Amino acid sequence: MDSRTVGILGGGQLGRMLVEATNRLNVKTLVLDAPNSPAKQITNSTDHVDGSFTNSDDIRKLAAKCDVLTIEIEHVDVPTLKSLQKEFPKLAIYPLPETIELIQDKYRQKEHLIKNKIQVSESIAVKENTQKELLAIGEKFGYPYMLKSRTFAYDGRGNFVVSGKDSVDAALDALKGNSLYAEKWAPFVKELAVMIVRSVDDRVHAYPVVETIHRNNVCHLCYAPARVSDSVQLKAALLAENAIKSFPGCGIFGVEMFLLETDELLINEIAPRPHNSGHFTINACVTSQFEAHIRAVLHLPMPKGFTAMNSCVTNAIMLNLLGDKHTPNGELKICERALQTPGTSVYLYGKESRPNRKVGHINIVSSSMKECQRRLDYVTGSSSKPVT
Ligand code: ADP
Ligand code: MG
Repeated sequence: MDSRTVGILGGGQLGRMLVEATNRLNVKTLVLDAPNSPAKQITNSTDHVDGSFTNSDDIRKLAAKCDVLTIEIEHVDVPTLKSLQKEFPKLAIYPLPETIELIQDKYRQKEHLIKNKIQVSESIAVKENTQKELLAIGEKFGYPYMLKSRTFAYDGRGNFVVSGKDSVDAALDALKGNSLYAEKWAPFVKELAVMIVRSVDDRVHAYPVVETIHRNNVCHLCYAPARVSDSVQLKAALLAENAIKSFPGCGIFGVEMFLLETDELLINEIAPRPHNSGHFTINACVTSQFEAHIRAVLHLPMPKGFTAMNSCVTNAIMLNLLGDKHTPNGELKICERALQTPGTSVYLYGKESRPNRKVGHINIVSSSMKECQRRLDYVTGSSSKPVT
């Protein structure tokens, strides 16, 4: 489909699913990560680079073999990407290094969104990690409030709920050594997310708005479309599109948001890459988030309706598979039930099962949400009645 070679910084499950998309399009793809990482397992090449996406030399090794560089994780070494941009103008890097840099620091990300008139929850930078400063924030925001690491946060690691004056010390201890900021508590009724793909001509295309349900700060379920009114869906899509219009460059973005009781929406955070809340698109949409990203960074066509749900599907639920807490590989029982269930697809990432580690996901599709839920109930074991 394209003679250029794509390099991916990071070879986890998102890289693996990007590679599935490039394999189908016959686009050569090389991965930078540890040997035998999930993405490398499914694409045979002696040109993959063993190393780290935080290491400058390793990134340069990958860049030397590629025409386009992209990422599956935002915690990459941006200064190297910026230098490569200057040294090799013909090397395309998407998302743009400036965008990755801005998004890497969650507080700067918030400042950028505010500057662009996008609603976010009120935030304050923590200048010094002291009891005095956190108590002053408590005076201003009230309790609870959320204390967050500005960088290197994921799956709730890097966040601490400051529930009252007496949890300030525990917060400082839990997040010590990190540069922090505080966010006013968002009393949300639902968490929504929208995947947006941005094309080279600056157009933005929204996937259906989804509802995410978290357990212990990790996405557990994703309902597509979100079970909210049409007007909330429209508003959420528009907010996500407007947010992504403020980041030049192209590629896929995941936009997480809070829906408040008043139907007001606030953006929580943005990921400049494929996202867990977009996995449903593999089975439910005309084009998956992974293929959309590859099309965007290679400037391949993105026709009207390519982000829409397939006409016979219309509803989907995604269930994340976490490593069983008690029995190694115990989560495979869920997969066995999924394999018996119509409209249900299992994705395993080739990762060693450890308690609570994301090791796969299951997509369930149907023409009604009620039927998706019935199938999910059997898959998770909350109903013992197989769906035929
Ligand atoms: P991560 O990078 O770990 O995804 P997030 O900033 O998205 O971090 O926070 C993880 C989860 O914590 C969110 O999905 C949401 O459930 C909760 N959360 C985050 N910020 C707030 C907030 N300001 N108010 C209430 N809950 C929040
Ligand atoms: Mg998040």
